[in-house]
Amino acid sequence: MFDSIVIGGGCIGLTIANELATSGNKVLLLEKDHLISGATGKSGGMIRAFHQSERLTQWAQRSLKKFSRMESFNQTGSLYIYPLENKEEFRAKAANRKASGVELEVLTQDELEARFPEMKITGEALYEKKSGYLNIQEWFAEFMDSKADFEIYENEMVVSLDRKANSWNVVTENFTFETQSVVVSTGIEISSLIKDLGDELTVKTIKTRSYSSNPFGDMPHFIDVSNFRYGRSHGGNLLLGHDSNEGIIDSPKRGFELIEAQDLYANDREGILKEVQSGLFVATGWGGTGFKLAPAIAEDMNELVNNFLGGCHV
Ligand SMILES: Cc1cc2nc3c(=O)[nH]c(=O)nc-3n(C[C@H](O)[C@H](O)[C@H](O)COP(=O)(O)OP(=O)(O)OC[C@H]3O[C@@H](n4cnc5c(N)ncnc54)[C@H](O)[C@@H]3O)c2cc1C
Repeated sequence: MFDSIVIGGGCIGLTIANELATSGNKVLLLEKDHLISGATGKSGGMIRAFHQSERLTQWAQRSLKKFSRMESFNQTGSLYIYPLENKEEFRAKAANRKASGVELEVLTQDELEARFPEMKITGEALYEKKSGYLNIQEWFAEFMDSKADFEIYENEMVVSLDRKANSWNVVTENFTFETQSVVVSTGIEISSLIKDLGDELTVKTIKTRSYSSNPFGDMPHFIDVSNFRYGRSHGGNLLLGHDSNEGIIDSPKRGFELIEAQDLYANDREGILKEVQSGLFVATGWGGTGFKLAPAIAEDMNELVNNFLGGCHV
């Protein structure tokens, strides 16, 4: 009997399994394909604290502290760019986030030109010096090297979850495992396992292209809210993405690679982190932004599950 079975080997499932095992639980992680084969493996790995949502900012700020202690972390700074006509709105948000401890500065158009002339930015931006990115493969290697002791089965697709009197049966194509608690962190594939989440779900496709040119060397990573584009340096090249359903980056110069992936945007990106039935937990839905939140989400899920398990063991 396991204390907890985590379904899905993306950044959310892996970090949750790790937290649960670190707390002393007997944990199994089941992945239908191979680890990080979903959205995580396609992620740009860009992290920053500022979000337009206060809740996401808090998760991201806590996560940034953890990420910045990792060897695979590249501190480049980040720019959150917005059009000049929205500057009062974003300056007010920045003041609000600074008051709750986020380290950022507002850079005006003139200041951007002076500090990052090669980026040719139109607008104003929030600059976070301490943020940066992790190359996903490097993050994954470091995570696996230092992870706590829990079991992982790859190529093991979960087909159903059956409630028993005081436990759950997790049924895969090959086995049935018994566990006190289940965490479903299957990214976009949630409805086949859980019928009623009580939340509105939207699935969105993100397409991103990275292309070979050596534009600026070291640069802050950026997101531009006026056109949904984001990018960072990528081994001397530029990784450029477009965070919208319609969006495709146009006119890449040469040698570009198209990365296509789906991510789940639930509750306006604030995601779903909750117990849906006794002992059955869900963590998904931070579309386009889940990687930078994963460590804090894992801590919160660990607390939820441990509260439940504490009650079971009484
Ligand atoms: C192109 C792109 C760029 C992005 N860039 C950034 C970025 O720069 N910064 C950032 O913070 N976020 C970024 N994101 C968002 C972030 O990568 C995702 O939100 C995050 O990876 C989602 O992680 P997850 O673990 O919830 O889902 P996933 O990574 O999709 O993992 C879910 C896993 O569950 C498995 N699974 C599904 N069903 C079953 C089943 N029945 N049984 C067993 N296993 C199952 C899947 O195979 C998969 O491996 C980006 C996303 C995309 C697509």
